[in-house]
Amino acid sequence: MVRPTLDAVPENGPVVGVLALQGDVREHQRAIAECGLRSTLVRRPVELAGVDALILPGGESTTMSRLLVVFDLMEPLRTRLAEGMPAYGACAGMILLSREILDGTPDQRSLAALDVVVRRNAFGRQVDSFEADLEFSGLPGGSVRAVFIRAPWVEQVGSRVEVLARVPDAPTAGSAAGRIVAIRQGCVLGTAFHPELTGDRRVHQLFCEMVRQSRVRACR
Ligand code: GLN
Repeated sequence: MVRPTLDAVPENGPVVGVLALQGDVREHQRAIAECGLRSTLVRRPVELAGVDALILPGGESTTMSRLLVVFDLMEPLRTRLAEGMPAYGACAGMILLSREILDGTPDQRSLAALDVVVRRNAFGRQVDSFEADLEFSGLPGGSVRAVFIRAPWVEQVGSRVEVLARVPDAPTAGSAAGRIVAIRQGCVLGTAFHPELTGDRRVHQLFCEMVRQSRVRACR
């Protein structure tokens, strides 16, 4: 596959912010560039105000929740999400976007942009990280190799949430079999895994397409 270089990223068109309080920020910026969109780092409310969409990367959701408060981003971010800004949360980012967090810390807050209940570190301490091939609804080109790192899963979804991927139902998967690990609600996407780490850009391409479409038709 020929990937566009950074020079190929247009000077106009939407700008995707990457929340840069913590976590693997650069990998998401590279993925966005390879999908042909501009990106910028977001740490302050004024930077959030300047972006058309936001990626919330993986990291540690308890820390990120605290940093969102410290950096005065919690309320502006809630407002932008309520107004329909497209967002993509990977792993800790998906936890932050959810309505309810199980096994969180008492002071942990979330943004309630996805009508889902997630469980932190759901796959258990003994499986710190693992990989799996997932059937991912709507993505061309076959299964997606997914990297899970102290990952959450989704335990409940609301009626407007589309389930995009589940852990395969293999006998070795144990209690993880069939668990929901990718979801979408309107312009908000969540994955329990880290597509920025594999070089397969299809999940970021899906998000970039959601961002482009949101300019044509607002999403709520
Ligand atoms: N376990 C982390 C949390 O609860 C998420 C891990 C990750 O983002 N890779 O926030």
